[in-house]
Amino acid sequence: MDIATCVEDGQTYFATQFAQLDAAELELKRRQLICSECRNPAFFRKESRDGKGACFGARPHADGCSLAVEDSGLSVPGFGDEQEGLTNFGNRIVVDLDFGAALPIEHIDQVPGAPRRPRSGPFTGGDGLGTANLHRRLRPLLRLLVEAPNFQYSDMIVEVANQPEMMVRDFFVHCSNAGFAQFNQFRGFWGQLTDARNGANGALWLNSGGQGDMSFCLPFEHQAVVMERFGIENKEEFAGAYILVLGTLRVSQNGKMLCFIDDAAMMALL
Ligand SMILES: [Zn+2]
Repeated sequence: MDIATCVEDGQTYFATQFAQLDAAELELKRRQLICSECRNPAFFRKESRDGKGACFGARPHADGCSLAVEDSGLSVPGFGDEQEGLTNFGNRIVVDLDFGAALPIEHIDQVPGAPRRPRSGPFTGGDGLGTANLHRRLRPLLRLLVEAPNFQYSDMIVEVANQPEMMVRDFFVHCSNAGFAQFNQFRGFWGQLTDARNGANGALWLNSGGQGDMSFCLPFEHQAVVMERFGIENKEEFAGAYILVLGTLRVSQNGKMLCFIDDAAMMALL
């Protein structure tokens, strides 16, 4: 969409005008954007490498918002073959972490001091009476969270290797709901990103909103793998993307909620 409102200064901006703000102001304001009509959270995307002009998008619009049609080029791609599983869900979702599936990242395992990945536990027998295991990778799960309205509230059991079993509605936490209850807890944090910015030690911060909202910290050593895996050439392309990260919510000394991305296999991006 062409316009969005910044709650920080109350101004409504044209995307082209917003793009000309000086860098510091833009970084601050882009995390406080809302749709000028439905007032849902919005994001700004700079001119893209394939020549698309600067624009705004909502995360997402409220039903019936007339500005939603302008965002069609930014919306999440179609649900496709992932929706089929919804009606056939058994009692249990087993999360498949596709380590090394797309790229030869298994080499990272051999680096001393590299983060440890959870391993698949030993086989513990059958699935029990009347239960069905549904194996899903992170990306299809993220699609379900984003596009299937009730999935995030489901009481199906999620199984992640080396973690206690939990219900979907407890395990997956939307970024806007992250808070005290999840501090130091391992969860699947998901939501839509407002922007990415460079931080100390070469880290890239993927923000889900303003200072009071949680951010994901992508350490320098994992950036190349993540960018290649998700086809990202420029950090600007994180703006508006949906993300799911399995990790532990931490709080920094200045009160910022953050979750480190310890491994490209522990995240998905749409
Ligand atoms: Zn709207």
